[in-house]
Amino acid sequence: MKFYRGVILNPKSDTVCEFMPDGVLVVSGPAGRAKIEAVLTWDRAQEKYGKAIRASNTFDFRDSVILPGFFDMHFHWVQDEVRTMPKDSLLQWLEKYTFPAEARFSDPAFAKARAREFFKRLARVGTFGGAIFSSIHDCALSAAMKESKGNFVIGNVLMTMNSPNELTQTEEEAIALTRKLLKKFGKRFAFTPRFAISTSPGVMKEGARLADRAGCFKQSHLSENLQEIDFTLSLYRGLRGFQKVKSYTEIYQSTGMLGSRSLLAHGIHLSRAELRILSRTRTAIIHCPTSNAPISEQGLGSGLFDFKKTERAGVRWALGSDIGGGPVLSMFDVMRSFVEQNARAGVKGASCIKALYRATLAGAEILGVSKQTGNFKKGKDATFLVVSLPGQGKPSQSTDAQSLLARILRTPGLDREAFDRLVQLSLYRGRIAV
Ligand SMILES: [Zn+2]
Repeated sequence: MKFYRGVILNPKSDTVCEFMPDGVLVVSGPAGRAKIEAVLTWDRAQEKYGKAIRASNTFDFRDSVILPGFFDMHFHWVQDEVRTMPKDSLLQWLEKYTFPAEARFSDPAFAKARAREFFKRLARVGTFGGAIFSSIHDCALSAAMKESKGNFVIGNVLMTMNSPNELTQTEEEAIALTRKLLKKFGKRFAFTPRFAISTSPGVMKEGARLADRAGCFKQSHLSENLQEIDFTLSLYRGLRGFQKVKSYTEIYQSTGMLGSRSLLAHGIHLSRAELRILSRTRTAIIHCPTSNAPISEQGLGSGLFDFKKTERAGVRWALGSDIGGGPVLSMFDVMRSFVEQNARAGVKGASCIKALYRATLAGAEILGVSKQTGNFKKGKDATFLVVSLPGQGKPSQSTDAQSLLARILRTPGLDREAFDRLVQLSLYRGRIAV
């Protein structure tokens, strides 16, 4: 057994986060497969474990915060290079920066080297679960599968129309690749049409059928900005079988893209009727606040996601960084942006506790792995982060989870990448990850 002593934060729901100013995470089992034995106060641990607590198996992090690893439920690992490029609008940014950057991943040596570097950085910022978009290329997806550490589903984007030549596949190629990768990676594979604009309905239909049959996740983008929605609808209303389609959501509905294993990023401009469809099909929305943020904050200026309307409709949702639409990899920055943008708009209820839940356990629930990970509970994986508190004062001086989290999330001036350096140590199933 090992004892990790520190200020413990254990997210449980939108409104509840366990807070222990002097707590212990008790971990047992071999590194790489270690589980949580208990989470309790230092006093209780001493009573319960007595002499089993020794200097050699106790790690003193009393000046730091211990919290579970993050779930980043939507990001593009192949867009790391373009996350800080100038962003005027979604469709232009894709054409000018993103597509050329993704085209480079056709080279297996390049893809391998980039994957090694990127996934090390991902572990360093504390992300150990989520859903990932790769480029269209087989070699880039395989590199990501090999290097990623955590509960991830990953898919190669499919692009069969309205895409630059070097990134355009035929429908036959797209389906053949889907079959091959599904077989090779099983449930770690996610069927990933980039968005309705770039993937022909026939490919979405057939791929969604194959993914459903295999019990795999499906993911795409939905309703990010108005220009994209207009273009999507005008495009599909010209296609056979879609002349009468009423909404963007209906396009995904009629191609079989919705369901309890479906993750759709953004969902900013949804009507009530669309939310009803998403709720009925148990489709999840992934909200990416740093990507949707105003252009002055290095986002794409798409608008503010209405989490209240979404929750009222009974639609499940979690947070994502949307790298490279979002500029910073750390989920701390994503949580900060969610809290700050809602506060600025006068929306109540966007607490730090809610942000932490939506960046951890909510993602694990949506991916169906919350029995195994997502927060601290006896029997769950020993996957956790040790975080130093920026600025003055010890974390144990905070009186509750909300105020401690607010201190962690306080904007570090203009240097938002400072969030990437907050994690001192990250452990994945009891083994030091980086
Ligand atoms: Zn995205």
